[in-house]
Amino acid sequence: MISLPINKIKRHKLRGRVRVMIIFVLCLALVSGAVPTQSSARSIEEISGDLSSLNNEVSRLDAEIAELEGQLDEKRSQIRSLNNDIEELSTEIDKIGLEIQNTQAKIKRTEAEIEKTEISIRTKERELQETKRLLVEYIRLINDADNVNAFEILLSGKSFSEILNQFEYTETLQKKTQESLERIKQIKQDLEQQQATLQQQRVEAIELQTQLEGQRDALSATRSEKDRLLALSEDEAKNYESLIVKNEALQKEVLQDIESLEKELSAQTGGGGIPAGAPPAGSGVLSMPSNGIEVQGYGMTDFAEGGAYGGSGHNGIDIASGMGSPVYASADGVVSQVGDLGGVAYGRWISVRHNDLGFDTLYGHLLASKVSVGDSVAKGQIIGLMGSTGYSTGPHVHFMVCFDLRTQQQGYGLLPYCNHVNPHLYL
Ligand SMILES: [Zn+2]
Repeated sequence: MISLPINKIKRHKLRGRVRVMIIFVLCLALVSGAVPTQSSARSIEEISGDLSSLNNEVSRLDAEIAELEGQLDEKRSQIRSLNNDIEELSTEIDKIGLEIQNTQAKIKRTEAEIEKTEISIRTKERELQETKRLLVEYIRLINDADNVNAFEILLSGKSFSEILNQFEYTETLQKKTQESLERIKQIKQDLEQQQATLQQQRVEAIELQTQLEGQRDALSATRSEKDRLLALSEDEAKNYESLIVKNEALQKEVLQDIESLEKELSAQTGGGGIPAGAPPAGSGVLSMPSNGIEVQGYGMTDFAEGGAYGGSGHNGIDIASGMGSPVYASADGVVSQVGDLGGVAYGRWISVRHNDLGFDTLYGHLLASKVSVGDSVAKGQIIGLMGSTGYSTGPHVHFMVCFDLRTQQQGYGLLPYCNHVNPHLYL
């Protein structure tokens, strides 16, 4: 399993951990099949049982961490979007603030003009009253003149022509005053019209100000709510971060337990390798299970050296090609197992028993299986389609040569384990 380029290790470190754990289980399995249990130390079955439950614990923690990381990512994107919203709202609020200031200045200007116009109107009103008074006076004088009789003219000592001149003069004055009165009336009317317009402008400006203040208040309320949500999201993100750290620490602990169990097991048993009676290396009895490219070899690959398997090697070879491309039986045989581990380990896998060779071949991460247990298959026959199920980041087949293939029922599915050797010994 695992055909990851080195640069993907970090992103998939959690998956890597579980893979490491699976390798330990496999190591255990291979020895348990080959060497009898010693009675003095803990039995292989006991250790195997412990490993199995630890295995489940690692899977559980892994899933939990993945979920937490998903939630954390979601929170972080919420925080980013809230920050953007708050920034946009602040810009909008500032803009409206400036508009309110402009409107307030306009209101003040309009009010000053209204005041000025009022003073002008009052002045014109006074002029109007004064002119009216003059007019009344002139009219009275003219009436008086109309009523003058010859006797009074004689008494006044003035000549008739003198009195006539005075009368004409008064009449002219009356006429001019009348004109002046009309003019002042017109000016006053214009001023009143102007004032009405100003009053209307003032009312409109005040309405605009009220409206702008309403907008500003609504935006401010929205911003406050976003600020509150931001603080909340930041707290939640911190919470997720600390949960992840806690879970990672716990998982590390479990992996250390697995490592020590693996050591305990090694102390009780010998190593693996090709058992007596198996076909000799280089006999070329197998063909490639895919037309793809080998992206990771067996054993201490660069990826394994990088610590991906906690110091252990890769237990098969990885051949990558397109999703859904054919996976072939690498020798004649009978389908011995078909398993599905879901999102963990080998995902969907098939094993084929080659009785004449004394071992099984195993094909992991399949998209689909095309055979059932008990089916006879011929070398080169399509048995499944390449996929990326289980712990895998891209379509590839994990190909193994397994002596003494066994399976263990785990919470997440049927887990195969065996005494594996480098498939290239037989390819
Ligand atoms: Zn692999």
